[in-house]
Amino acid sequence: MEKAPEVLSALKILDKFTSDQCCGKCISCREGTRQMQYLLSASDTPTPSGLDMHMITLLGNLIDHTARCGLGKSIARQVLAVLEGKSEAERVIEEYLPGPYQELLFFQIDPVLCKGCSKCARSCPTNAIHGVIKQPYVIEHDKCIKCGTCMMNCKFGAIAIKD
Ligand code: SF4
Ligand code: SF4
Ligand code: SF4
Repeated sequence: MEKAPEVLSALKILDKFTSDQCCGKCISCREGTRQMQYLLSASDTPTPSGLDMHMITLLGNLIDHTARCGLGKSIARQVLAVLEGKSEAERVIEEYLPGPYQELLFFQIDPVLCKGCSKCARSCPTNAIHGVIKQPYVIEHDKCIKCGTCMMNCKFGAIAIKD
């Protein structure tokens, strides 16, 4: 049976990651992404069963919380977001920014992972991100309205939410 578009999109992200990008250092990332890939591929219905989706969500959240680098975290978030029909930023904000605690959290760019591509700065609605091309960019927290657009646009997993 043909798979649903969101399942095909999630598989595309996982196939690229497991074949080309995962360095394999973290067990949760290495094995978790493979297991997510298996659960999505093996299903003979357009979308995963409730139990499979539960397992996929557990695995994605496990990778998000234990992966050593932003790329692994970002892939897990992207896959769950696609399957849930949300943007990555929407999902992260729902999970990490519950009401009254929102004020205590902030978005931060990891200077090691940042490639200085400027995409986040160009997408920020409040011009809160500054930098020079090919050097790490920085978020001006006073201007940040915590919309998550920068995180959604960074292809390098360089932007994370910190408390
Ligand atoms: S989380 Fe990063 S460091 Fe860990 S296995 Fe995945 S790609 Fe490698
Ligand atoms: S989009 Fe990501 S890699 Fe590009 S400048 Fe912003 S944080 Fe750095
Ligand atoms: S979260 Fe939104 S407002 Fe804050 S730096 Fe990112 S894009 Fe700009």
